[in-house]
Amino acid sequence: MALIPNSDEARDIAYHFHAYTDARDHEASAPLIIDRAEGAYVYDSNGKRYLEGMAGLWSVAVGFGEKRLVDAAARQMQRLSFGHNFTSRTHMPAIDLAEKLVKIAPVPMSKVFFTNSGSEANDTVIKMIWYRSNALGQPQRKKIIARERAYHGVTLASGSLTAFSHNHASFDMPIANVLRTGSPHFWRDAEAGETEEDFATRRANELEQLILSEGPDSIAAFFGEPVLGAGGVVTPPRTYWEKIQAVLGKYDVLLVADEVVCGFGRTGKMFGSETYDIKPDIMVLSKALSSSYLPISAILVNDKVYQTIADESHRIGTFGHGFTGGAHPVAAAVALENIAVIEDRDLVGNAARVGQYLRDRLHRFSDHPLVGEVRGVGLVAAVELHRKNFPSAAAFKDGQLGSQANAYLAEEGVLLRAAVDALTICPPLTITTEDADLLVEKIGLVLDRMA
Ligand code: PLP
Repeated sequence: MALIPNSDEARDIAYHFHAYTDARDHEASAPLIIDRAEGAYVYDSNGKRYLEGMAGLWSVAVGFGEKRLVDAAARQMQRLSFGHNFTSRTHMPAIDLAEKLVKIAPVPMSKVFFTNSGSEANDTVIKMIWYRSNALGQPQRKKIIARERAYHGVTLASGSLTAFSHNHASFDMPIANVLRTGSPHFWRDAEAGETEEDFATRRANELEQLILSEGPDSIAAFFGEPVLGAGGVVTPPRTYWEKIQAVLGKYDVLLVADEVVCGFGRTGKMFGSETYDIKPDIMVLSKALSSSYLPISAILVNDKVYQTIADESHRIGTFGHGFTGGAHPVAAAVALENIAVIEDRDLVGNAARVGQYLRDRLHRFSDHPLVGEVRGVGLVAAVELHRKNFPSAAAFKDGQLGSQANAYLAEEGVLLRAAVDALTICPPLTITTEDADLLVEKIGLVLDRMA
């Protein structure tokens, strides 16, 4: 590939070390430079328009260029461009946002701790859980259970909960005290003849066996996304969460709902925990919290968690954890305005309505020779590409179906992502039925092109 010397593409390759990228491949191909965006559409540096079918990275809930957020950021930047919350200092955006989150939480929550990313939030949660176990005089209670296909971030601890080998290989991860249990991927993991309910029972039994074999008094918490996002939009089979929660309750294991993808309307209700009647002790929010206009994440803890930690911090003299940019006033002001936009425009209702419309239409691909399953809830969905039904599939390795489909979709002006071979779909909550039609039309074109 010959790039024009000193072009933007060449300078990107020269200077920019990319996230989640094969560095050598990057050096050998032209990067896609996204220049501007509006609503559900982004434009590259050549002016080509794409439907942003992943809302950036599962995050731009209110769409791009929302003036209310831009104005909220500018107002706050002028009034108080930085403020922190160390040693009892505070500011209005942090107070207002913490109160708002406690008020809209689907279960009683006590306090909100602010961080900057989903990874940082989950790392912080692990530290809070260990701190609590020590405070309870149970220093052996440190093991944390996460699931196959889970994605909880990439920092040392949160990344150890994440289930993917490329997040661990050569990083000397996972860290100790992380246990793994099966994912709720019914289509992929169910045994012949198993119903969704049977499969959910099996997963709950496996969880109980894991807890018993490790020793219940060594298990501190279970982390779960209500719907596994990066793991391929894996919606739980019927009765799954009810059965999992029964096991956790039996052994007094804390439940952490990682709502980084599901929060703020994605599943057709404000929180995934509402959609699936999950009663977490801790909730983790990010991404759609600010529509990713600025980085911010939030941890909601209930009284059971908070009170023990508060007592311990008093004994030690401080809760020795926090980030310079945690509770950043500009990010918090943007998050508050973002939640107001979601509420004022009933974007949760729109996600439910347009999501249903989109999924109804995606289901027409269920019988396509290249498709294993279409699944989803609210406005998040996956088309699982499946090579067994695909005559020339031998040409592709696992994972290549998804990346090939994505490359063709980008040519068609649609940006999606692939979780192995599941094409994941997670557009802004603002999309219209016309946008949904465009998405479906282009996916259909690409499936036919590949079959
Ligand atoms: N948790 C979930 C469910 C996620 O999907 C992600 C990111 O995709 C994270 C945590 C990590 O968030 P971040 O990339 O902001 O660190």
